[in-house]
Amino acid sequence: MTNQDFEGKSILVTGGSRGIGKAIVTTFAAAGATVYFTYRSRSEEAAAVVDACELLTGTAIAIQSDAADPNSAQDVVQRMLEETGRIDVLVNNAGITRDGLLLRMSDEDWDAVIRTNLDSLFRYCKVAYRPMMKQRAGAIINMASVVGHTGNPGQANYAASKAGMIGFSKSLAKELAARGVRVNVVAPGYVETDMTAAMKDEAKEAMLGAVPLGRAASAQEIADAVFFLASSQSSYITGHVLHVNGGLAMS
Ligand code: NAD
Repeated sequence: MTNQDFEGKSILVTGGSRGIGKAIVTTFAAAGATVYFTYRSRSEEAAAVVDACELLTGTAIAIQSDAADPNSAQDVVQRMLEETGRIDVLVNNAGITRDGLLLRMSDEDWDAVIRTNLDSLFRYCKVAYRPMMKQRAGAIINMASVVGHTGNPGQANYAASKAGMIGFSKSLAKELAARGVRVNVVAPGYVETDMTAAMKDEAKEAMLGAVPLGRAASAQEIADAVFFLASSQSSYITGHVLHVNGGLAMS
């Protein structure tokens, strides 16, 4: 079903080949937008997302680009601007975990998470800043995590990256508000994706046991929150952290 807000609009989603990112890409494509998305390595998965969007009579363009590469944002946004002339919505979704207690956390595990989750946010927002400012319209949605709010043992690197995203987003929301650009955060709790499939069963059970709604979120439930924050239905919301965690942490 198309949505007037997004018909003819250009949307960029980092990390769109599976999980939450895939649900975001297909949701915007079904609404009539042209959706560019990046992925790191699995080309078959990315091609399947493009095909799924075509079935929904939507348009998606997959670009292989490592978010941790300092040139990624410039290359991807430049291509999008050359091809469509616009960037209406930017969703910084690409993210990784490299879990371990701090005592055993290597510099490499720290760097990989910070570069992928936080440095990429800085670079993608920086290159989207000027075109959105010139358009005097735009929405940026950044994918944090409940862990950036509560902390979690074994995830000091991940929690630092996600908490950093929240402070960054609030600052940028204040910089861009007068230009008609809104910046918000979605902070999911436990979502059924490949990322959580890697968790140990005991950790999963403990996490689910603490969720008042008693279940994990679907990727679509997170995409729906992103869609709301990109749409005109949230036109008076900026600098907000939308917790989508089944009540796991209430603020
Ligand atoms: P996932 O591992 O299933 O998918 C990650 C996506 O990001 C893939 O499309 C992958 O290609 C892409 N990606 C990863 N590293 C990349 C890189 N260096 N460059 C480009 N793309 C890259 O993960 P997910 O569970 O769908 O998570 C998506 C986002 O949601 C992440 O930022 C994650 O931290 C956040 N999140 C997930 C959960 C959860 O429970 N799954 C909870 C809170 C927050």
